[in-house]
Amino acid sequence: MSIDTTTATPAVATTDVLIVGAGPVGLFAAFQAGVLGLKCELIDVLDRAGGQCTELYPEKPIYDIPAVPGCLAQELVDRLLEQCEPFAFPMHFGQRAESVSEMPGAPAQDGQPAHPRMLVTTDGGKRFDVAAVLVCSGAGAFAPQRVALPEAAALEDRHVHYAVRDVSRFAGKRVIVAGGGDSALDWALALRKVAARVTLLHRREGFRAADGTVAEMRAAVAAGEMDFVVGMLGALRTDGEALAEVEVRTRDGSQMLPADELVALYGLVSEPGPIAQWDMDMRAGRILVDTTTYESSRRGIFAAGDIAFYPNKQKLILSGFHEAALALRKAYHYAFPEKALVHVHTSNNAALKEKLTHA
Ligand SMILES: Cc1cc2nc3c(=O)[nH]c(=O)nc-3n(C[C@H](O)[C@H](O)[C@H](O)COP(=O)(O)OP(=O)(O)OC[C@H]3O[C@@H](n4cnc5c(N)ncnc54)[C@H](O)[C@@H]3O)c2cc1C
Repeated sequence: MSIDTTTATPAVATTDVLIVGAGPVGLFAAFQAGVLGLKCELIDVLDRAGGQCTELYPEKPIYDIPAVPGCLAQELVDRLLEQCEPFAFPMHFGQRAESVSEMPGAPAQDGQPAHPRMLVTTDGGKRFDVAAVLVCSGAGAFAPQRVALPEAAALEDRHVHYAVRDVSRFAGKRVIVAGGGDSALDWALALRKVAARVTLLHRREGFRAADGTVAEMRAAVAAGEMDFVVGMLGALRTDGEALAEVEVRTRDGSQMLPADELVALYGLVSEPGPIAQWDMDMRAGRILVDTTTYESSRRGIFAAGDIAFYPNKQKLILSGFHEAALALRKAYHYAFPEKALVHVHTSNNAALKEKLTHA
């Protein structure tokens, strides 16, 4: 799979299906699209694939995937990426689906208006001309939990960060990493190698991170390679445009920590995002689908995985796999209205077998 993390290029990409969301269901959908002979591209608002599996429970075992007696959630994501790799579909990260509109000018067929192609735009300026959209947006667009201080917004992306995208940016800086999960500890440990000084700030002594990472962090503190402070952010003090100090509230009062950069890694919250305004019938924030095709009330837009709603829907990965497979079969008719979709097992399709065997 070719991975594109740029946000430029406003040119329109033309493909058969746009998959919104690269969680486990979106990744399997990409594989299914390839098997059916559809071209697709994937977008995800995050900077990596995996959805809830990667963001919420990468180290938790999963036991209910068919033919996989047990694997860690991140292993499942890695295997799904490997499975769709032979098709090399472009994957665009840091792109949130914003709007969808029908394109004008679809020629009539047999006196019937043809299914119009659709234009999907993202907040990063990407545009996709597609025959169908498969929404696999799960719990919604994940967004970082932000610092709840009014002065933080003006410093965002300059001196207040919610992700580390370029380690070299922190070289020689005094960095405060706030948070108590795996991300916070991993980045505090990594940044101590380039920063002038790293201070890990967490509201209590205990952590939500893996035991090994906590031990590594405590060893680094004991060796004087970084600091750890128990407390909460109280205020950010600036010097002109730059961050100068962070006030930390501790049990004994407050203290000022000199700082050039604050990296707040408090975890993610999910938001329904713009898809909820796409003029589809919704139920409790989820997309109501017809269970024969997993198409929404808006023709050409399908939903699979946790975002799909129908009676007795189970929010399980295996349900999403099934939903995506059926949705793409209907989407095929929008992409190739003149062709019949002939069911062929992957092992009976020589070209496909060759592609999958040699991957
Ligand atoms: C702690 C925990 C344990 C679980 N254990 C199991 C288990 O053992 N077995 C099991 O089957 N299920 C389990 N689940 C449920 C399972 O994780 C979900 O059913 C599954 O992740 C749904 O996959 P998805 O691809 O539909 O959505 P998600 O995994 O939520 O992925 C959706 C992706 O879409 C992206 N996105 C959202 N909106 C947009 C947008 N507008 N534009 C671009 N991208 C967008 C998100 O960033 C995200 O990456 C568990 C869930 C949790 C929280």
